[in-house]
Amino acid sequence: MDNVAFPILLGLFILLVILEFVIVLRPWKTSRWFRWINNSLVAVTGLPTARLLLLPATLFMATLCQAEGFGLLNWFEFPVWVAWPVGLLALDYAMYHWHRINHLVPFLWRFHNVHHADMEMDISTAIRFHFGEQLFSIPYRLIVISLFGVSPMMVLVYELVFEAATLFHHSNIRLPKKMEGLMVKLIVTPRMHGIHHSVVKNETDSNYSTVLNVWDRIHSTRRLNIPQEKITIGVPAYRSKADNKFWRLLILPFTKQRGWVYEDQSVPERDATDKTQVF
Ligand SMILES: [Zn+2]
Repeated sequence: MDNVAFPILLGLFILLVILEFVIVLRPWKTSRWFRWINNSLVAVTGLPTARLLLLPATLFMATLCQAEGFGLLNWFEFPVWVAWPVGLLALDYAMYHWHRINHLVPFLWRFHNVHHADMEMDISTAIRFHFGEQLFSIPYRLIVISLFGVSPMMVLVYELVFEAATLFHHSNIRLPKKMEGLMVKLIVTPRMHGIHHSVVKNETDSNYSTVLNVWDRIHSTRRLNIPQEKITIGVPAYRSKADNKFWRLLILPFTKQRGWVYEDQSVPERDATDKTQVF
């Protein structure tokens, strides 16, 4: 992870940062510096949790299952060309459900809210995850790994793909519509994930996939019909600068959660009859 995946992810991160200056998808409305500093500070608490706890725990479980012959892929002698796709698809499908559970369960939403409350979405949003969200995902991931008997190498490869996909679809880059239209047939793209970060509730409650978006298609949670210029990013009750300061974000999960309304109590809505296909 440190010798191979990290340099790849760092390279991708730098490339996307540069592209965000050149091809902008949603023009920034607030100070990029303010968000970058506060999002980076959240990352300083979240990323070490992922690297020092989440990754070792998942690798330990995968190694243990392999040694003990536990889990679907360890029970049967599948050829590599079957085992690898099954393992990677299982992990990606599990992460679709984990993301959906984070939106459904009020306790987990308290932590995921920190990620969604960002007033704009760009590459810095991709690293803005509360350490609590990372922590609570550990037992879930351990269960998935043990059920499927995913190997340690599969865990590592999926982690690299998962992180790369997360960086990519949070980035604020304007890809040619034709190109993104082709990509969105298979994977989650910046426009698709932009809809997931909308202030409109039923738009936030869509597009949960991370790598492949087939999971959203299967569960009818895929939405592609909102043009980016019509999207306001964030969580309506947390769209102030004060709410988006680092220390406020750190304690946000432990404070009383506000309803899905703007400060003036109005509810963000959109005409549901709009069937425009953006791609
Ligand atoms: Zn989400």
